[in-house]
Amino acid sequence: MSEIVVAAETETAVDVAIIGAGAAGATAAGMLAKRGISVALIASHHRHPPEYRAEKIGEAQIAMIDEAGLGAAARSVFTAFDGCWLRRFGHIVERDPKREYGGDYGAVVDAMRGALPAGVAQIVGRVETIETGPDQQFLRLADGRSVRSRLLVMSTGLSEAALKKAGMSRDVYSRHHSLTAGFDLSRPPSDFPFPSLVWAGDGPSDKLAYLTLFPIGNAMRANLFVYRSPFEDWTRELRDDPNRTLNEMMPAFRREYGELAVSGPVMIRPIDLARSSTSSATAWWRWATPS
Ligand SMILES: Cc1cc2nc3c(=O)[nH]c(=O)nc-3n(C[C@H](O)[C@H](O)[C@H](O)COP(=O)(O)OP(=O)(O)OC[C@H]3O[C@@H](n4cnc5c(N)ncnc54)[C@H](O)[C@@H]3O)c2cc1C
Repeated sequence: MSEIVVAAETETAVDVAIIGAGAAGATAAGMLAKRGISVALIASHHRHPPEYRAEKIGEAQIAMIDEAGLGAAARSVFTAFDGCWLRRFGHIVERDPKREYGGDYGAVVDAMRGALPAGVAQIVGRVETIETGPDQQFLRLADGRSVRSRLLVMSTGLSEAALKKAGMSRDVYSRHHSLTAGFDLSRPPSDFPFPSLVWAGDGPSDKLAYLTLFPIGNAMRANLFVYRSPFEDWTRELRDDPNRTLNEMMPAFRREYGELAVSGPVMIRPIDLARSSTSSATAWWRWATPS
């Protein structure tokens, strides 16, 4: 993987400043740079910190990463697999041959950032102040450095604080709507008959949306989605005794494919249903944007 080269200038002036260097910010930076537009990409960390985020993507998403010129770098850290079995209503109802990709989110983002052209000014720091205007946007970082741009892209993920600074808001419609957990299984991918699996819940009583299993390297990775709160006993039990909790929730899995046994930590994240919006004060951004 290429090293992420960071800029050290105290003042940077570009056409487009992008705050947030996750998958969205890195992809946007690649696409703009390919079109000859000068870009500054502001990342809060030199390397993306390890965290449970997107671990499985499909061809549509990799096509966007390709369009940004970052596909080869992303593929170098993804595990590609062909085929997904869908189990619903107690049966395998579909064997889709589609190609998908599994990978560690931080490693993928770092690889994408490492492949950005040298012309992209990659700045590492935290944006503290955002001043917006019809022609010019001004950013001040915590260490005093500044960035001026004609347009500003907010790709700050779940950060409500950053949105607020830009006059935007994140309205939560359903807090802790559901919950997701990521973990490795102790059995390798070769132990299972499917390339990857989506196992949907049997009904409202099991509170299971779905469990998906897919390979990352030599491990079988699991992403579980359940209609549970982070504060209920079930969630604590999932963390403390995942094998018992999972096998109790999905007895049919054990009958069909054997014991669900977890290796390593269970990473749990609540999911909110939310929508980010722009206030009327900043709505002119839309018509200030060149078509
Ligand atoms: C648990 C979980 C599982 C998921 N699974 C999948 C999946 O399997 N497939 C899929 O397609 N999607 C999945 N998603 C969704 C996917 O992870 C997100 O849509 C995607 O990561 C969003 O990328 P982003 O670049 O917008 O945000 P992020 O990757 O969060 O990047 C935002 C960046 O902005 C930075 N930032 C914030 N404020 C500032 C500031 N003031 N100054 C500088 N930097 C700042 C943050 O530090 C961060 O690095 C999952 C999400 C979660 C939470």
